[in-house]
Amino acid sequence: MKILVINCGSSSLKYQVLDMANETLLAKGVVDRIGLDGSYLKHEKVNVDDKYVLEIPIADHTAAIEGVLAALQDPVYGVLKNMDEIAAVGHRVVHAGEKYSKSVVIDDAVLAALEECIDLAPLHNPPNLMGIAACRALMPTVPMIAVFDTAFHQTMPPESYTYAIPYEYYTKYGIRRYGFHGTSHKYVSERAAYMLGVNIEDLKIITCHLGNGASVSAIKRGKCIDTSMGFTPLAGLAMGTRSGDIDPAIISFIAAKEGLNAEEVVSILNKKSGMLGVSGISSDFRDIEEAIAEGNARAELALNVFVHNVRFYIGAYIAEMNGLDALVFTAGVGENDVNTRDLICNDLGNLGIKLDLIKNKVRGKEAVISRDDSKVAILLIPTNEELVIARDTYMLAKEL
Ligand code: ADP
Repeated sequence: MKILVINCGSSSLKYQVLDMANETLLAKGVVDRIGLDGSYLKHEKVNVDDKYVLEIPIADHTAAIEGVLAALQDPVYGVLKNMDEIAAVGHRVVHAGEKYSKSVVIDDAVLAALEECIDLAPLHNPPNLMGIAACRALMPTVPMIAVFDTAFHQTMPPESYTYAIPYEYYTKYGIRRYGFHGTSHKYVSERAAYMLGVNIEDLKIITCHLGNGASVSAIKRGKCIDTSMGFTPLAGLAMGTRSGDIDPAIISFIAAKEGLNAEEVVSILNKKSGMLGVSGISSDFRDIEEAIAEGNARAELALNVFVHNVRFYIGAYIAEMNGLDALVFTAGVGENDVNTRDLICNDLGNLGIKLDLIKNKVRGKEAVISRDDSKVAILLIPTNEELVIARDTYMLAKEL
């Protein structure tokens, strides 16, 4: 059974085809700059060195999917004889509000429910829905499955997800903590249990998804009980360009001082803050560390703020779970940034967290990086959100 996984953003679309008989990746690619000048499709067939790159105008998401389907059936670079080989399509959908705690087969009722969630994720859900509509138009008989970023976090107890604001804002508008990166937190926590050879039911795990967007989750007995992102992905840790948690009164203060409205300030908190805002240099941790090596004090401050934030959540979640068995690092920074992992774990011995500085010198592959005498296992686990989407899609499609 072959599954097509689609992750559709406003101007880009990433895809993968997996053979679920042995969970192998057959091909992957990206369509970028959809609807803009210079749009292109880059397609890679696994085990073939050269890439298939098409630089053609791609007006909209339907044209993008058409390009993907053509690439997948290309005589040289393709992996399918015809589209009938695709048993189902799995779509990443960012926000399902409180409507879904698991992946679902998409039908008209699901689409209507997701339309209702647009308010909650105005930047993310519309392109996700456009991707679904384009696929349904081009593959009307193929089942479509939605896999949600928010679903894994739906197990949080009310005291974790409730904001201490007038309760009717929750009941009227759904304002609460939702959390994001759910497929990643789920995947790496399950993988951690597998690597440790322990049933996930017996583990307390903190997963640190540290990429351009970053979040930390507390996972007790396989269920998320808290996570650092909130009503939107702006909350929690300082990130590449996002502020993370700040005193909410700062918004009206900046608005008054700078002559902006609340929306404009929030846009600054999303796009011009975090590592970029504090360092004044870049949102990319590689640039930040290069600047630190050259003696740039603000770059060092930015990294220290980030490290402080991650440690803050680790401490909080150890308290919430009354202990910790495994600490997991994943995503761009978590998988590749030896120095930042070192700083995060530094001097946490009293909490049972002892990083092995030699074992920590590893990038992008599964590894146990804690010392043998560390009570808490520290693990590096590359995330694989597409595989989770493909698995859920496969499981649901099999039942149809
Ligand atoms: P997202 O999916 O949220 O866009 P990723 O998980 O791909 O982000 O992470 C991208 C970020 O990872 C980059 O912006 C960069 O800061 C960081 N990163 C990638 N490789 C390295 C590295 N070798 N050292 C330090 N940071 C890295």
